[in-house]
Amino acid sequence: WAKDRGKGTIAVYEAGLHAEALGKLALRSELQRAIRENELVLHYQPTVDLTTQRITGFEALVRWNHPTRGLLPPLEFIPVAEQSGLIVPLGSWVLLEACRAGAGMQSERHQPSMAVNISAQQLAKTDFVDEVVEALRCAGMPAERLVLEITESVLLDDMTNTITTLARLRDRGVRVAIDDFGTGYSSLSYLAQLPVDVLKIDKSFVDKVGDGYADASLVEAIIAMSHSMRLTTVAEGVEHSEQAAWLQDARCSLGQGYLWSRPVDLPSARALLVRGTHRPAAVVGEGDGLL
Ligand code: C2E
Ligand code: MG
Ligand code: MG
Ligand code: MG
Repeated sequence: WAKDRGKGTIAVYEAGLHAEALGKLALRSELQRAIRENELVLHYQPTVDLTTQRITGFEALVRWNHPTRGLLPPLEFIPVAEQSGLIVPLGSWVLLEACRAGAGMQSERHQPSMAVNISAQQLAKTDFVDEVVEALRCAGMPAERLVLEITESVLLDDMTNTITTLARLRDRGVRVAIDDFGTGYSSLSYLAQLPVDVLKIDKSFVDKVGDGYADASLVEAIIAMSHSMRLTTVAEGVEHSEQAAWLQDARCSLGQGYLWSRPVDLPSARALLVRGTHRPAAVVGEGDGLL
């Protein structure tokens, strides 16, 4: 009995694996089509100055406008894109599209930065620097306004090459952010060698600050470290005003999170830029005629 059941379990398990493999294969060819046929869209989430509450920039976050499944979040297709190598053409599309959006947001009053998430395979491309320079030129976007977000683990992966690539980009004026900081267990001495400008504290740490939490000392240490390295500090995933107040007190400069805005489409992002992120009453009359 036990033996039969064991076999059955294995059969079911194999069928499951098979279905999963097929599912991935299907997803992969669908994603290929999606890139070709322009089904990908970017949403933009503002970064806010914790002291002035003004928007300093946006992060471009990709979504897949799937013909039958609706708007899919990156978690549903970025892993498959990474495994299949499709992340390279996908990332190229995101970079150019985000630069165009960033260039289009520029006005006399507003010069928001535009942050783009970069994966390991993009960074490893020998022509990556040229590609970034070309995207900026093509979009008419000043290099100083582009921020490349790279996770801690990717930054530490192939440090020699990474340092050379990032240094070349920074020579052009492009800024670099360490994304999801704190999740990669990297040591300070390693990070200090990296040519970076911005440190984004991962949401899992930001969740721990605010009223009633005792566990905030780690975030204080991260902010202190970030200051000593002369980096701009951004808190990710801020959802409550208590967190924003605490972070401002702790001398964190910028915040990003649902408290101000979820990622939104380009017209909404432009509206946010002109009107401010929230409490419209406080910003009445600040419009610059863009909308
Ligand atoms: P990330 O770069 O760390 O982006 C922040 C994620 O946190 C976004 O999720 C954003 O919507 C979410 N978020 C922001 N504020 C809050 C908040 O207050 N509460 C909560 N619960 N979540 C918040 P999203 O858009 O689903 O993206 C997930 C991840 O997918 C990104 O994490 C990034 O690693 C990856 N990703 C997104 N777009 C791209 C892309 O164009 N290229 C690459 N390589 N990766 C991308
Ligand atoms: Mg990011
Ligand atoms: Mg992040
Ligand atoms: Mg994160």
